[in-house]
Amino acid sequence: MSRPDDPTPSAMRCVRVRGAREHNLKNVDVDVPRDAFVVFSGVSGSGKSSLAFGTLYAEAQRRYFESVAPYARRLIDQVGVPDVDSIDGLPPAVALQQQRGAPSVRSSVGSVTTISSQVRLLYSRAGTYPAKQPMLYAEDFSPNTSQGACSNCHGLGHVYEVTERSMVPDDSKSIRDKAIASWPPAWHGQNLRDILVTLGYDVDRPWRELPKKDREWILYTEEQPTVPVYAGFTPAETRAALRKKLEPSYQGTFMGARRYVLHTFATTQSALMKKRVARFMTGTVCPVCRGKRLKPEALAVTFAGLDIGELSQLPLDRLAEVLAPAAQGLFDDVPTRSKSALSRAAARRDTARRVAAGGSAHAGAPDVRRTPDLSPEKRLAAQRIAHDLLGRIATLQELGLGYLSLDRSTPTLSSGELQRLRLATQLHSNLFGVVYVLDEPTAGLHPADNEALLRALEQLRRAGNSLFVVEHDLDTMRRADWLIDVGPGAGEHGGEVLYSGPPAGLEGVTGSQTARYLFASAAATQARTPRAASGWLELRGVTRNNLRGLDVRFPLGALTAVTGVSGSGKSSLVSQALVELVGEHLGQKVAAEDDEDDAAAPSVATATAGRIHAGVEGLRRLVRVDQRPIGRTPRSNLATYTGLFDAVRKLFAATPTARARRYDAGRFSFNVAGGRCDTCEGEGFVSVELLFMPSVYAPCPTCHGARYNEKTLQVTWGGKNIAEVLRMTVDEARGFFADEPSVHRPLALLHDIGLGYLRLGQPATELSGGEAQRIKLATELQRAQRGDTLYVLDEPSTGLHPADVDKLMARLQGLVDGGNTVVLVEHDLRIVAACDWVIDIGPGAGDVGGRVVASGPPRAVCEVEASRTAPYLRRQFA
Ligand code: ADP
Ligand code: ADP
Ligand code: ZN
Ligand code: ZN
Repeated sequence: MSRPDDPTPSAMRCVRVRGAREHNLKNVDVDVPRDAFVVFSGVSGSGKSSLAFGTLYAEAQRRYFESVAPYARRLIDQVGVPDVDSIDGLPPAVALQQQRGAPSVRSSVGSVTTISSQVRLLYSRAGTYPAKQPMLYAEDFSPNTSQGACSNCHGLGHVYEVTERSMVPDDSKSIRDKAIASWPPAWHGQNLRDILVTLGYDVDRPWRELPKKDREWILYTEEQPTVPVYAGFTPAETRAALRKKLEPSYQGTFMGARRYVLHTFATTQSALMKKRVARFMTGTVCPVCRGKRLKPEALAVTFAGLDIGELSQLPLDRLAEVLAPAAQGLFDDVPTRSKSALSRAAARRDTARRVAAGGSAHAGAPDVRRTPDLSPEKRLAAQRIAHDLLGRIATLQELGLGYLSLDRSTPTLSSGELQRLRLATQLHSNLFGVVYVLDEPTAGLHPADNEALLRALEQLRRAGNSLFVVEHDLDTMRRADWLIDVGPGAGEHGGEVLYSGPPAGLEGVTGSQTARYLFASAAATQARTPRAASGWLELRGVTRNNLRGLDVRFPLGALTAVTGVSGSGKSSLVSQALVELVGEHLGQKVAAEDDEDDAAAPSVATATAGRIHAGVEGLRRLVRVDQRPIGRTPRSNLATYTGLFDAVRKLFAATPTARARRYDAGRFSFNVAGGRCDTCEGEGFVSVELLFMPSVYAPCPTCHGARYNEKTLQVTWGGKNIAEVLRMTVDEARGFFADEPSVHRPLALLHDIGLGYLRLGQPATELSGGEAQRIKLATELQRAQRGDTLYVLDEPSTGLHPADVDKLMARLQGLVDGGNTVVLVEHDLRIVAACDWVIDIGPGAGDVGGRVVASGPPRAVCEVEASRTAPYLRRQFA
């Protein structure tokens, strides 16, 4: 198969791809070496993922499914096979992708890595039980099982309550004036009011003037009386009608306001309703398990003096210290080193409150010498489990995750952290002969953490595996055995393999955007003078996660990068404390503009302590441009999110055909009934449930993905119907709508920010975090700029090729030139060097971080000895 000009040495084992045409790939032939560390590079949208994930990984998956489940063949055909002529020499593949979409709330560091199940085994087999308590099973230590869960909070750790204050925010209003904000809207709310009239309650007096007894009954009663209702009658007329026993309009059943909220939250199928009622619920730590989610018997069992909840709260670095003696078989005669580890753990535990484990032998401060005798069997079991646990924890520590605790829930982790967790799990699976396909593993990593990641990848390769990595980080590209550069541009302007060979060989490839950056001297791009601050936003006493009483100031009217190793506290400072404090000051309760799609969960208060000391006067708005999805269902997309779809629908509604048929703009929405396809309700897809596998989406059999019904599709504007418009890329649409400013303007902004290759109807669920972030930024740029806004971005470089980073930076610099303030959390040192000010947090992660190590213009921060960022930043100015 190999051709004379094939750059691959024939001695190398290869995966041979011929005629790949997935998405934008242009009939690509490429030989990818096996048993090597291969990086796929190229600008966003060039086709790297289409080759690595869409073709290679998808084909490996398909072959795997076929081998294990022949019956799945029909379904696989329906979902689609990669568009490629042939692939030879492809081993089975494991994908470690950045997750898109929401992970389950109940998953945690411990469950993702499966370390928790071993810890449960440890407690079951080798824990210290109170006298007379029988031994428990491992499942008894899991809050996700009915036998382990705390019965008060059902294993959630929180109980949700509704209070008079939350349900009646304005007690000067009467019931008629909607004092009870938590009541259902529209007819149902009116119905409840009319029932109260029948029952003789005064619905016209201000809430606060009602007798306490009445208020409590209305809010908290569990009774559900059914009474006659006289709709539209005044209270006096109702009383008269009751006396005369007139025929009522209907019989209505009352439900207490709290019961309505809790009942709706627990049972409704509607995300909107759930979200609506969740606003009236406040979460507090469960008083029975104190947030530990387990039943009292399980919490009464200890290991090294800690219950399993306490153990799970320890950072992995500490957990390793706690397990070390047991792993060496030391139980009674604890050596000094571990003793100090234990007492540190114990000191920490003392601050957490002790569970009332009625009559526990271990009330009060733990004393390791009082650890009861363990039977030889128990000791052996404990030693083996602890030893194994230590090995797995060590891997996580090596990947720079030692600051995490087992009970940390995955939604609070960055996607990069989650990917590294999964990678660590793989390192222990002892697989070989496998292809690992990874998506930007360096995302979220400080250059100092990169080393460990590269070592871990190297370890997988040495064990006999292949690594196919989509990556933008230039250092990682330099370290690769093989580089496959895809391009030259995005979308239809990309899709070709520009180069395939050892990294050094890319230098001579003209047309490669990667080559320009990989071989450029860093200093060339950094000749700019930092702006002077127009003022200072000063925060005092910031306490949040690992930040303790931090004083910090941000320059206004400038571009600031907050740096530091992973886990040092950058996000705690910027995405949490800064956003909350400024948001609170501005009266923007939740500052994130994208909270609308958030899963309905009542907020559990984890407030930031601290205050704004000065500088907030000039700020009128706070905008957080993060990488969270712009929507969690295929119903939201680029066009709906940016608002340009509204303008497009108006154009369609104004066509002669639409006017003759009386179609309004709503007819062209796939989110409401009328114009959309009834089968898929406008989704274009139907979901197919696979036994034992995640369910997949298949194109709708009625509209074949068009999302609209026949009638709607008969209407055209400029020769295209609405479905065809949604299939256009931003760049195609720019030409098509050139004369329609309301549509053209947002399209031009999307193009300028490097998203010209996206299709208008591309579902939110298919967009990467970096794409979502840039869509938000483009949407924001449509607004009039007034120079009084604080923009906060968390790692904007994620998912971006250096060439795309430059486009993004030009936009951000433009915002600052307009007088706005921009604060970034960032690892990419090219970006950091181009900022006006740097705040370096650290020096380390978790407890050894959380302080301002250096603060100043980039060139000044370079000189700070204690900063772990400085040596890397210095190279940018070399
Ligand atoms: P990269 O990984 O280099 O950023 P991708 O392989 O994700 O690029 O995308 C290459 C092209 O294929 C882009 O034009 C993108 O819009 C398109 N594309 C990506 N995913 C899909 C999809 N699921 N369906 C159709 N087109 C897609
Ligand atoms: P960075 O952004 O620098 O990577 P973070 O601010 O995310 O660091 O984390 C700083 C410290 O705070 C770490 O020890 C981390 O484990 C902890 N932390 C961050 N978020 C949470 C959270 N939601 N719950 C508990 N601990 C957290
Ligand atoms: Zn509980
Ligand atoms: Zn359909």
